[in-house]
Parts: sequence; C-alpha cells; structure tokens
Amino acid sequence: MSKTMPADHRCPSCGAVYPPTELVCPQCRTILTPATSRKKTPPAVIALLILVIAALFIYAVYLAWQELVLHRF
Ligand SMILES: [Zn+2]
Repeated sequence: MSKTMPADHRCPSCGAVYPPTELVCPQCRTILTPATSRKKTPPAVIALLILVIAALFIYAVYLAWQELVLHRF
C-alpha cells in the first residue's frame, strides 16, 4: 500500500484514511462528507437578503413618492 493519500481525508468516526472519492468509510461505513463540498446558502439567509432588498426598494419608492408630493405642493 502506498502512502500517497492526504492525511486530511480521515474518517471522523474511526480515523481511517480514505480516498477523496469515497463517500462511505470503508472501515465503519460512516457517511463521509468531502472536504471540497461547497456550502449551500441556507434558505433563511436568502429570505433575509430578499427582505432587506425589498425594504430598501420600498424605502426608495417612499422617498421618490415623498419628493413628488413635496414638488406638487
Ligand atoms: Zn470510519
């Protein structure tokens, strides 16, 4: 066996080194998550961003409307 596998690919359950392509630990069959996996944006963060953008848009519309009302009077 060659020791070319990187040390960061270790099973968190049993500590066995596994190839980066493995999805399940070959020793204890724990489901492994790859270190290179991209973190998905939680829906709550997206909802909060939409809420902030909507609030800013409403505020901009309110300011524009107020400006129009002030110009009329
Ligand atoms: Zn394991």
